[in-house]
Order: sequence, then C-alpha cells, then structure tokens
Amino acid sequence: MLKRLFKLISTRNDTERQQPLIIPRDQHSVSRKLLSQAAIRVMKQLNQHGYEAYLVGGGVRDLLLGGHPKDFDVATNAKPEQVKSLFRSARIIGRRFRIVHVRFGREMIEVTTFRGHHEAARNEHGMVLRDNVYGNVHSDAVRRDFTVNALYYSLDGFAVHDYTGGLKDLQKRTLRMIGNPKERYEEDPVRMLRAARFAAKLGFNIEKNTAAPIKSMAPLLANIPPARLFEEILKLFLNGSATATFGLLREYGLYDQLFPDSGALIAAGDEKALAMAELCMSNTDKRIRAGKSITPAFIFAALLWPSQQALMAQNRGMPKGQAFAQAASDAVGHQLARISIPKRFLIPMREIWDLQHRLTLRGGGRAFKMLDHPRFRAAYDFLLLREDAGEDMDGLGNWWTQFQAADETEQQSMVKAIKGPTKKRNSRRPPRKKRSPE
Ligand code: ATP
Ligand code: MG
Repeated sequence: MLKRLFKLISTRNDTERQQPLIIPRDQHSVSRKLLSQAAIRVMKQLNQHGYEAYLVGGGVRDLLLGGHPKDFDVATNAKPEQVKSLFRSARIIGRRFRIVHVRFGREMIEVTTFRGHHEAARNEHGMVLRDNVYGNVHSDAVRRDFTVNALYYSLDGFAVHDYTGGLKDLQKRTLRMIGNPKERYEEDPVRMLRAARFAAKLGFNIEKNTAAPIKSMAPLLANIPPARLFEEILKLFLNGSATATFGLLREYGLYDQLFPDSGALIAAGDEKALAMAELCMSNTDKRIRAGKSITPAFIFAALLWPSQQALMAQNRGMPKGQAFAQAASDAVGHQLARISIPKRFLIPMREIWDLQHRLTLRGGGRAFKMLDHPRFRAAYDFLLLREDAGEDMDGLGNWWTQFQAADETEQQSMVKAIKGPTKKRNSRRPPRKKRSPE
C-alpha cells in the first residue's frame, strides 16, 4: 500500500505548495480503526458546525509509519472561542500559542486554529513571543516544524493532504525543516531539540540543511524559559529512545546547553560522568520497554551527580556532611538556571543522593531500617548505576543485592560481618518479606 502511495508522489521536492498533494483513502495507510474515537468526535462536531477540521502532527505521522500515536492533534479554522463553545469539556490554554484542550474521558485532544502568515511578535533574539494570527490550512502547514509533522488527514474523503513534501520525506525516513532552517530555529530554538527527539524516536536522518545550523545555533537555547525546557527534557528522555536522543544531543552541542556542568565534565574527558549519563539513558529505555515505572528524579540525580561530586571535592576543609550538602545545592542551583526542576522531583532526587551515604552505614539495625525506607529501591538502583559507571564502592552494591535476597539469619550474619564503626543498636527485627529484584 505504502509503495503504491509513494509512486504517486512527484519527484519535486519543495517544502511549500499552494495546492496539496491529496492521497485518497485507498492509497494511504491511515486506518480509521486506529484513530482515536475522541479525535473523530471532535472533528465531526467541528465539521457539523461548518468548520474545517484535520488530524495533523504526530498522530498522522505515526499512523502512516504503522506506529501507535501517543496523542492526537486537530487543526481547524474555528477560532479558540468557537471551538470552546462546541465542547463542554474544552479549555483554552497557552499564551504564546492559544490552543484548546478537549477532554473525553481519559483522552485529551489538542485543537489548534490554523496559523496565519504574518510578522509575529518577537524578542530581541528573533524568537517568536506570540503567534495568534489565524490563517488557512496552507499557512498552517508551512508554520509547522518538520515536513513529516505537517500531514493533514480529513474525515471528508478520508484523504491525507500534503503541502510540504512530508510523505516523500516519510518514505525516505528524513526529518526536514519546513522553510529556512536557520530562520525557523531563530523563531523557536526548541525546534533544535525537537529535531534530535524525532530523529532518535523515529530513527530518521536529519536532512543536511536542517542539521547544518544546529551546532552553531545551540546557544540560543539559553533564551528559552527554564520551565519550557523542563517539559522538553521529559519528552526527550521519557519516550523510550533516550539513548539515541542523548547521542544526538551531544553530537549537536545541545546537551551542553541543557546540562552545562555535566557537559563540561564530559567534554573534559570525565569517563565516569559520560558512563553515568549513558547508563542512565539505557536503563530508562529498558525500564520503559519492560513497562516499569520511571521518574525524572532518578534521571536528574544521575546527570547531576558527577557535578555534585566534583563540587564536593572543592569543599575541602568543611565537615563531610556539610561539604556534601553544599555541593548538592550548588550543583542543583547551577542546573536550575537552565531547567526548572519542580520540587516534586527535586526532593526525591536529593533523597536518592542523601541515601548514598546511608547505604554505607549498615551496622546495628541500620541495614534493616534502610530496607523499609520508601526511597530504598531508587537509592539502591542509583548505587548500582554508580558502580556500573566505574565508581569503586568496595562491593557495596553486591552486598545490598545479597542482603535483600538473604533470609533473616543470613542477614544478621551479614550485618555482623561488616567491619568498621557500628553503633550499638537493637538489631532484633521481626522477620520480613524478602524483596525480589524488580
Ligand atoms: P509527539 O508524538 O511527540 O506528540 P508531535 O509531532 O505530535 O509528536 P507535538 O509536540 O504534539 O508533536 O506537536 C504537534 C504538532 O504541532 C507537531 O507535529 C508540529 O506540526 C507542530 N509543532 C509543535 N511544536 C512546534 C514548534 N515548536 N514549531 C513548529 N511546529 C510545532
Ligand atoms: Mg503530538
């Protein structure tokens, strides 16, 4: 089916055509069965009130690639207020781009009004501040980022409409910026991160001209509000392709902008810092594949740990605990200047760090107490990550692995066998359930 479809596509490769290439229902692979019912309801409702409505973005792209879209976006000529008036569950959000969220049960459909051609409000760096001038489907298409993200699917004839050569790029597995890449990155530097994310996630090549300006323009990310970068970080590392994304972010100089301290250590040849980041990414991908939970707290803990350790080494003369705490808040402080990490992740991140010391203190009842700590599992995983990255912890990770698998008597003798200072404590504990490795 796809092959037949691609034969249809002309060899012309412009990223802007006034008349779309229209691919009829029997010649594309967007199956109505895989479409979200909520998206169909939104589109039908808009159509019934005389508005145009298209499915666009990742939904169409991923369906054409045979994947399962994670969300569905609808583009329409109805203004946000008009969209809102049609759905009880609709909410207008956003300032830079006003969009409408329409909720159906657990599903949320993002409805955007066609963007228009115009001089948008910009800041001194050329960045678009607001863009709420409306247009038609053509002007909307050329204001999107990559050609493969600008394919429109309509319920009227169930056809795919292509204004920018996206289908051809999809076939060639190429990520191509619509328009002049340099100008488009200037308008919104986050598009550079999106290039790395989609290339990694889809396994696409970044087209030559789309890739070329990224390295030199990466510093523009410094102008992006830290809160927006946090949202992007989640998308970069929690989509199951963190390893590939991390590789591309480094290759294009984007990582150094996002994590300046970590980037500097890696650039200076700190192999442990690099290994820690890479292992964290591959563990994250594995956990996602296995359907296990993941938390950004762990990822930030891993990426910032080497900087925390380097800063601590500078705090000579301070008591150890104080040196640790000072370095931790310095490492976090530097990072927050770039990416705002919400407290709900910062607090568990600090706990994972703080527990690293407690994992070394196992005498008396401490090891038993540690097992009951709500953050034990994360702290233990983090310890293993440190060891895998090359930190010599004198077999501590192994000790904890055995301790968890041991029965009460074995655990008691493991604790007794520990050399070094142990506080006298009552180590008689009720028998506990063994933890099986997750
Ligand atoms: P995902 O699978 O991650 O949801 P997506 O392509 O749907 O991928 P979204 O962030 O959901 O990405 O955005 C929806 C669509 O909006 C994109 O496909 C693209 O057409 C457009 N878009 C999003 N962000 C930008 C941007 N910064 N500049 C231009 N167009 C954008
Ligand atoms: Mg999307």
